[in-house]
Amino acid sequence: MEIFHISAECYPVAKVGGLADVVGALPKYQNKAGNDVRVVMPCYDTKFKNENDWEYVHWGHVSLGNFNFPFSILKETTDKLGFELYLVEIPDLFNRKEVYGYQDDIERFLSFQIATLDWIIGRDQVPDVINCHDHHTGLIPFMMLYSHKYYRLRETPSMITIHNGLYQGQFGFDKLYYLPEFDLAHVNVLEWNNCINSLAVGIKCAWAVTTVSPSYLDEINTFANGLESLFNMVRYKSIGILNGIDVEVWDPAKDPMLKKNYTVKNLNKGKQDNKAHLCELFNLDPDKPLFSFIGRLLEEKGGDLLPHAALLALSENYKQINILILGSGNTLIENHLNSLLADYQGNYNTYIGYNEELAHLIYAGSDFLLMPSRVEPCGLNQMYSLRYGTVPIVRRTGGLKDTVIDFGDDGNGICHDQASVGDICYSIQRGISLYNDKKKMNEIRTIGMKTDHSWERVCQEYLEIYNLIISKK
Ligand code: ADP
Repeated sequence: MEIFHISAECYPVAKVGGLADVVGALPKYQNKAGNDVRVVMPCYDTKFKNENDWEYVHWGHVSLGNFNFPFSILKETTDKLGFELYLVEIPDLFNRKEVYGYQDDIERFLSFQIATLDWIIGRDQVPDVINCHDHHTGLIPFMMLYSHKYYRLRETPSMITIHNGLYQGQFGFDKLYYLPEFDLAHVNVLEWNNCINSLAVGIKCAWAVTTVSPSYLDEINTFANGLESLFNMVRYKSIGILNGIDVEVWDPAKDPMLKKNYTVKNLNKGKQDNKAHLCELFNLDPDKPLFSFIGRLLEEKGGDLLPHAALLALSENYKQINILILGSGNTLIENHLNSLLADYQGNYNTYIGYNEELAHLIYAGSDFLLMPSRVEPCGLNQMYSLRYGTVPIVRRTGGLKDTVIDFGDDGNGICHDQASVGDICYSIQRGISLYNDKKKMNEIRTIGMKTDHSWERVCQEYLEIYNLIISKK
């Protein structure tokens, strides 16, 4: 089967969050399962782009109304990622360091989608299935169905995978003329709450909709930033598939970013060595339990709760615990977290920014990983921490609910129900008790490390859905 994944991110080429991890791993396992898998993404100015070799395979022009942009398609030449990788190069729009956050993001991702389809219809054969990811690719299923120039793709099944339904890529109808000419009888398909909503359009037009965990699919029927009723309407073609993790990249036995590699057999020693290194780097106390957080410092992740929770937990247990925060996002939250530094030196530290290598070391060297998320479509951090023998402390929501069970119920972590400072602090107290019960702590860590979250099984679920929609042609 020839499968195209179209995405704004893909690890290790460009990563902002979990979307990149998924698009960098799922295609590899689909390829191993005997398919021809290609990933298409924008060509940003990233380290991976600059350090690898590329072959030009196509040239063209995108028109967004009166704006014209030349584009080219570059193919990675070594196949080192385990799938074919194609970059859509539109220098004016993508030759920048960041993936998102520019005023012309609508123009950028619309051009990317149009250039991708222009290239795909120019090829000899059409793909068997096109898997779009998040709102940056949400207009593709619409254009495949209704744009005159893509009529060859009308019968090609498309699927949209929702990694985060909070971000939807809305824009006004004043930009309708950006879209390639389409059958105007279907213009209403573009509309949601008086604007063009890229994610809603993808959900309406794709032949199947997947979310990245079953619980998230249940939750978005009642909480989806305005798309609740739409999710209810398309329930018949929706399914939640829990993400896997790339167990080759995330392997404590081989991970080159760790101070010391380890397996479940020598987990105590291995984790101790990584913790000692981490504590040295951040001036923390290696003899005390280490509670860490990795992620975007935003309300959806419960980031706004962290400063107060850290303050309370540290003051109640002064010098009995360590807290380490790695992340960036909301400046107020960043500043608030940094304001605690002076009072809790030796037991508390922050790294405001993005650092892949440090994230790996924190998964290995921490005792607990905090995830007090308000919304968590799947969450990968808890799965990485389980694999590295770190006990996740999570709020029961979305994918966290599907992957972490409280140790009181013979599970692998610590769970709480509310995204609140009180619940976080209570869970930290339970963590301290667990840490002091060495035998139990070791047992929970071992359960976590032995859990199978690999993509092999998950990959089959994706293939089943592709086959189902192909059979409907
Ligand atoms: P989301 O995609 O919503 O941000 P996920 O849990 O799905 O959350 O994925 C987060 C991914 O991004 C993980 O691989 C995590 O390690 C990584 N990550 C998040 N913030 C940082 C950071 N500041 N530095 C390094 N890695 C980070």
